[in-house]
Amino acid sequence: MSESAEPVETIRQPKFVITHERAMRAASNYKKSQAELLDVIFDVEDQQIYLQMQIKSLYQYCVEMLGLSEATAYSLIAVMRKSREVPALKESVVTGRVTLSKARKICSVITVKNQKEWLDLARVCSARIVERAVAMANPRSAVPESMKYVAENTLEFKLAVSEEWSQLLAEVKDLMSQAERRAVSSEEALFTLLQKYKIKTDPVEKAKRALTRKDSPLLPTTNCSREQLGRETKRTRNIPARTLHLINLRDQGRCSFVDRYGKRCGEKRWTDKHHIKPFSEGGDHSVENLQTVCWAHHRMMHR
Ligand SMILES: [Zn+2]
Ligand SMILES: [Zn+2]
Repeated sequence: MSESAEPVETIRQPKFVITHERAMRAASNYKKSQAELLDVIFDVEDQQIYLQMQIKSLYQYCVEMLGLSEATAYSLIAVMRKSREVPALKESVVTGRVTLSKARKICSVITVKNQKEWLDLARVCSARIVERAVAMANPRSAVPESMKYVAENTLEFKLAVSEEWSQLLAEVKDLMSQAERRAVSSEEALFTLLQKYKIKTDPVEKAKRALTRKDSPLLPTTNCSREQLGRETKRTRNIPARTLHLINLRDQGRCSFVDRYGKRCGEKRWTDKHHIKPFSEGGDHSVENLQTVCWAHHRMMHR
């Protein structure tokens, strides 16, 4: 029996070693790839490769073109941006001393002054210890903003707030409770404020209200800037309010850029009004000649 057990043992040993070596090689390649990815992402941003490919952000490029997970793309970009300020952070990842995920963890606390301590900690300690040290140095980072389902139609919303914020909320709740003659919850108070803000400032809501009025005044607007369009002209750059409202209603206040796959951008932030026929070339402020575009797509159009 003991004679037959021996050959099995000698076969198992090399197999174990071979598998281990394969794992070591794969891990080394994985770390090398991460380092290479971080290195190249600087060039992608500097050369604005994503804009040339009609993709509006580096994040979208990482996820859609490179096929990276959202978390990896987020880490990569965060570390790259922080490394512009603290180049030693990039060096540590590229040379394999610190992993990308640990580098991401120390982004919120690392500076040129304290870089040595944080990079040493990230190199030597486990991810959990690094996380704890960051939370102690920057308590706000310990509570990342999150919203997740806890039941159907019920979400849990978590965020770190200042003492001043908490005091202000308490005062607003007092005012609302007094006005309503009942106890108003934090959720209700915030809902009321959010709703009021939306109705007051949403360009589509404003357009609906304004178009029922006859005498809309001219509004200043963030249309194509002088730098983007070239020389200054004597004609006014103010788009008539009525036109602006009509565009907002038509575009629903969202970027109307459509990519080559037919997908509309739809961004609601950082939007401008773009002249299809440039204002400097005699393009007018007609609804047909104007479109809502986000900052990134607007920049792309004027390249
Ligand atoms: Zn423009
Ligand atoms: Zn856009």
